[in-house]
Amino acid sequence: MSAFVGKYTDELIKTAKSLATPGKGILASDESTGTIGKRLSSINLENVESNRQALRELLFTAPGATEYLSGAILFEETLYQKTSGGTPFVDLLLAGGVVPGIKVDMGTVEIAGTNGETVTQGHDSLGARCAKYYAAGARFAKWRSVLKVGAAGGEPSELAVRLNAEGLARYAAICQVNGLVPIVEPEILTDGGHDIKACAAATERVLAAVFKSLNDHKVLLEGTLLKTNMVTPGSDSPKARHALAPFNNNKIVVLAIHHLFNFVHAPYNIYVYVYICKIIIHLLNALRCVTHAMQQVGAEVIAEYTVAALRRTVPPAVAGVVFLSGGQSEEEATRNLDAMNKLGVLKPWTLSFSFGRALQQSTLKKWLGKEENVAAAQAAFVARCKANSEATLGKYAG
Ligand code: 13P
Repeated sequence: MSAFVGKYTDELIKTAKSLATPGKGILASDESTGTIGKRLSSINLENVESNRQALRELLFTAPGATEYLSGAILFEETLYQKTSGGTPFVDLLLAGGVVPGIKVDMGTVEIAGTNGETVTQGHDSLGARCAKYYAAGARFAKWRSVLKVGAAGGEPSELAVRLNAEGLARYAAICQVNGLVPIVEPEILTDGGHDIKACAAATERVLAAVFKSLNDHKVLLEGTLLKTNMVTPGSDSPKARHALAPFNNNKIVVLAIHHLFNFVHAPYNIYVYVYICKIIIHLLNALRCVTHAMQQVGAEVIAEYTVAALRRTVPPAVAGVVFLSGGQSEEEATRNLDAMNKLGVLKPWTLSFSFGRALQQSTLKKWLGKEENVAAAQAAFVARCKANSEATLGKYAG
């Protein structure tokens, strides 16, 4: 089945390539009015347009940031906003070589009959909205689908996977007809107590379904970017990636030492052999736990699982793969991205960032809504952009 060819084909390929420029990434500054409200309230600021504009102006005018950014995703309100000096944000970004993008989905709604799974809405009048955003200077779009890993293995359900894959593909096709490069974002949430293998299995299943649907809808992959989650253990898992190597089985080690002690002092009889067997079992268990504990925290392990999931499901024709940060700390997200780019396996796409929280957390804390803090907040933002730029090249030294 051949891909869509239309009047924007060449432009779509060019835009997608520029978004995937090695050493650069995408700033996700497209928080909806509700979501930005949570970020603003974390620094005791009211969720009013002037504060939303001030935060975005701080980010877009940060000196030196454009060196590390290929694109910035905007919420509709931001697309039409200006700096306090009167320059439209779109012009400001374009002048710095940063492609403006637009979030076009309208959030999620629950799928009836499922265990709280959702599908993303916003297809109605999407074509007209894309044409309007193109005229306003946007050259790419984002649509986020949300899937979850269920405790009993029931989620993501086949129904949720199918509906979200179809929704993403339909969105992507509409974008391309209207000249916008679609960023296709199926996000598997980290919420839950699942292990990294369950996240890997769900990610592979979802990505495989998404690319099947993109093919069915004749989406031009060379003019498309994938935005996805990194493969990590669930955030409530005892093996969560951010836990500091909890050696949660030290009981086993204590037992092993106890048996070793007894062995040394034991008279040589049949019990000695029982002891030996017990020691071996305990030591093996302890070793398994230590290995497991180390795996829980390793960026290298997250990198291996993530890159394996991509290699199994994402065609090389896709212009680039960018990651969301999904609640990881700034440092974690950067280290994980760096580890992926350091991996010595074939990765036919640029692996880069499209972080929201992991680019803005320290910036917000420095800013606190005060004019006198703007320069320090911008410096914090540029530091994250630079670190992530290095990570896209596997050159982050920490
Ligand atoms: P986070 O990096 O904060 O997860 O947000 C990225 C994003 O754009 C989600 O759609």
